[in-house]
Amino acid sequence: MADIIQLLPDSVANQIAAGEVIQRPASAVKELLENAIDAGSDTISLVIKDAGKTLIQVNDNGSGMSETDARLSFERHATSKIKHAADLFNINTKGFRGEALASIAAIAQVELKTKKEGKDLGTNILMEGSEVKEQEPCSTSKGTSFSIKNLFFNVPARRNFLKSNPVEVKHIIDEFQRVALVHADISFSMYNNGNEVFNLKKGSFRQRIVGIFGEKYNQRLVPVIEDTDLVKIEGFVSKPEFAKKTRGEQFFFVNDRFIKSAYLNHAVQNAFDQLLSKDQFPSYFLKLTIDPTKIDINIHPTKTEIKFEDERAIYAIIRTAVKQALGKHNIAPTLDFEQENSFNVPLMKNTDSIKVPTIKVNPSYNPFETKIVSTPPPKPKADNWDSLYSSFEKDTNEIIEHQEKKQEQQVFSSNWDNEEDEETKTLLQLHNKYIFTQLKSGYLIIDQQRAHERILFEQFLKNLEEGKGITQQLLFPETVDFVSADAELLNELKSEVANLGFTMDKVGRSSFVVNGVPAELKDQNVKKVFESLLEQFKMNESELKLKKHENLAISMARSSAIKSGKKLNTEEMKVLVDELFACEMPYSLPNGKPTIISLNLDDLNQQFDYQ
Ligand code: ADP
Ligand code: MG
Repeated sequence: MADIIQLLPDSVANQIAAGEVIQRPASAVKELLENAIDAGSDTISLVIKDAGKTLIQVNDNGSGMSETDARLSFERHATSKIKHAADLFNINTKGFRGEALASIAAIAQVELKTKKEGKDLGTNILMEGSEVKEQEPCSTSKGTSFSIKNLFFNVPARRNFLKSNPVEVKHIIDEFQRVALVHADISFSMYNNGNEVFNLKKGSFRQRIVGIFGEKYNQRLVPVIEDTDLVKIEGFVSKPEFAKKTRGEQFFFVNDRFIKSAYLNHAVQNAFDQLLSKDQFPSYFLKLTIDPTKIDINIHPTKTEIKFEDERAIYAIIRTAVKQALGKHNIAPTLDFEQENSFNVPLMKNTDSIKVPTIKVNPSYNPFETKIVSTPPPKPKADNWDSLYSSFEKDTNEIIEHQEKKQEQQVFSSNWDNEEDEETKTLLQLHNKYIFTQLKSGYLIIDQQRAHERILFEQFLKNLEEGKGITQQLLFPETVDFVSADAELLNELKSEVANLGFTMDKVGRSSFVVNGVPAELKDQNVKKVFESLLEQFKMNESELKLKKHENLAISMARSSAIKSGKKLNTEEMKVLVDELFACEMPYSLPNGKPTIISLNLDDLNQQFDYQ
């Protein structure tokens, strides 16, 4: 029988390799930014269109390439960064595999313009599906510019597999931030569909963090510094009072490379010990410098995980360093010598005494209470609940029994309102969290926050799909400022946000004027709803991989539902329970957690030892 094994053509081999290296536009962004850094650039710009699906362009002012190198750079295993196997154990550059450009060129149309210092002409190369389409001298400035057009144009399955634009832009911004954060000595800018998203000047690490995450971070950061034989640590953790409800800004960099490590994350979380409850997460930005021979970065194709020779010692050092930093902050919280004056932070007067800042917030304060011109949302039909409810109503015995018990209940529950009408007497709120209600066969316990989340989730999902969100116009439009990344995400979500019922316009680079809000929000603080919405959206996106509409509906519901701890009057409880039973799926949240528990009267009787 004839031999059947053949070597795959390069274009096919490259396409297969591309599957590992380039999963989405953000992966290409990461590779191009890293190449620009390795080339010694000090100014790098990123331009994307259509979430990187139609264009990703990275321009740098680094070393540039000779004509031969430019051509060779697209070959697989072509790299200027390592020569021998031994070099693998002493890597000081971001790249070293020589795979990225070959992979990108296999699955996109690529235009490269590059010129070395002192040359009159540079080189222009057009590639498409691993083939050189054109190569000619060109005039261009010193450095390199890569334009990646129509990513995955020849791998439709991959292209279709990409998520919505907001999600892909979010991934790109994540990669951009990870690279830009740790290279504060390089200026970075980013443009999305012509909008400037970031414009970061050279500066200190602190200035870079503030440049990316906003001015308010300046006073949130506690410096962490430690220098041992094994590892040098420098960076910042957030003050405990600024901890977040979701994992927010948590960054480890090892030798200027962003890494993920659940183990080291635990070391930081652990250092906060008693300072945070278990559902609070600190932000941190920690740079570790370590002898490259003591780590192995070769274990993951996209290189966000690394192996340390002595992980446990590093754990202990990080934990101690963060603990010490927090200890110092506790003793002298306002003595933060590193704080940058250039951010216009008022300097402390000599006469000011040093004390721990306390923040008093009135959670029920609502600036919209009188501003909203109200158009009440349509009430859903309450068939299911009515049938449950009426089965109780019909049972006169129980009503009489209940009447008799009322006296006793008053003794036990100050929540019971004497003035309420007959029908509503069966609703009782306990611990400002659970609503108890009686059924013929037993009773129901309803979690008020989850119930409201379920109701809003279904309503928002419907609004998103049908584009029929009802708007309440604000009498006084509200201007809301965001950090650049969030403003961009919101901009990407604008048609969905409009379907939900928001009417808003982008003003300036990262501010919006909100003219109207979804009727479901009633009297909520607009800025808080947006902040929480974006935070939830980002978390759900990365952790749950939800569809965009579901994600948005869940995030909106989570951020605008009434919370546990809110006292409800009987009418409010009734509306809530009515609306819950009008839901398609009243019994649980989209994540499966229960909204209602039902308990059987027989069980209760048994507990009291009745026959
Ligand atoms: P690697 O970065 O692993 O070496 P790449 O495929 O990313 O592999 O790049 C191949 C080579 O092309 C690099 O080793 C470098 O010599 C060259 N190169 C890529 N991008 C640039 C750039 N922006 N400026 C100068 N040279 C570059
Ligand atoms: Mg590279």
